[in-house]
Amino acid sequence: MVKILLNGSKGRMGQAIQAIAEAEEVEIIAAVDLGDELDAGLDACEVVVDFSFHEATLPLAKKAAEHGKPLVIGTTGHSAEEKEAISALAGQIPMVWAGNFSTGVNLLFYLVGKAAKILARDYHPEIVEMHHRHKVDAPSGTAEHLLEIVREARNLTPEQTRHGREGVVGARPDDEIGMHALRGGDVVGDHTVMFAGPGERIELTHKASDRRIFAQGALHAAHWVLGKPPGLYRIEDVLGLRD
Ligand code: NAD
Repeated sequence: MVKILLNGSKGRMGQAIQAIAEAEEVEIIAAVDLGDELDAGLDACEVVVDFSFHEATLPLAKKAAEHGKPLVIGTTGHSAEEKEAISALAGQIPMVWAGNFSTGVNLLFYLVGKAAKILARDYHPEIVEMHHRHKVDAPSGTAEHLLEIVREARNLTPEQTRHGREGVVGARPDDEIGMHALRGGDVVGDHTVMFAGPGERIELTHKASDRRIFAQGALHAAHWVLGKPPGLYRIEDVLGLRD
C-alpha cells in the first residue's frame, strides 16, 4: 500500500480516486480540499496527489518539497509563471506531471507526434476538444499538450496557433495549428487531432467515458514515483512510451 495525501478530494477526480484507491493498493492517509490544513497529512504520507485548481498546485508543491515528498500533479490550467515555478521544485523532489493520465490518451500523443512528422505541411492540423459544462479552463491541458507535440514536430512558434476563428480571418496558412474548445453536457473528455490535406483528411480521436481511467493512471504514477530521484517526469516515462 502506498500512503497518499489527496488534494482536491471533494472534486470529481478526488471522488474517482477515492473510489478505486483500495483496489489500486493505495491508502488515502489524508483527503484534503479547499481551506484544509496540510501539514499533518504531509508528514504522514509517502506521495502527494493533486487534482484541484491551478492556483493550489504551487503552494502544495512548495509544501511537498519542504517535507521531501514526491508529487503527482493532475491539475490543469496553470499559467506560464505557475508552470515555471512548479517545475523548478522538481530539483528537490520527484514529480510526475500529466495533463492526462489515461493510457489511451498517451497513445494518442504518440500517434499524433508520428503523424505530424510523417505528413507534409499541407496536411493542416486542427485540434478539437470537448468537455462537460463545469470545466473551468480552456483549452484542456490535454489539448495544450497535443498542441505542443504538433508544434514541436512542425517547428512552429506559439504565435502560429489560432484559437477559434471568427470574422474575415483570411485563408488558412499551411503553418498554423487550429485549436477549438467545445463545452457542454456531461462529456468526460473528447480530443481529436485532424490533419486536413489535399484530397484526404486523417482524424485521430480519443473519447473518455469514465474518470476511472485518469484515476488509475494517477495512482499507477504514485506507485512509480516512490523512490525515484528528484526530477520532472512525464506519464510517458511511467508508461514506457518514449521512443
Ligand atoms: P472539480 O472542480 O470537480 O474539483 C476540484 C476540487 O479542488 C474541488 O473540490 C475544489 O474545492 C478543490 N480545490 C479548489 N481549490 C483548492 C485549493 N486551493 N486547495 C485544495 N483544494 C482546492 O474538478 P475535477 O474535475 O475533479 O478536476 C480537477 C483538476 O484535474 C482540473 O484541473 C482538471 O482539469 C484536472 N483533470 C486532470 C485529469 C488528468 O488526467 N490529468 C483528468 C481529469 C481532470
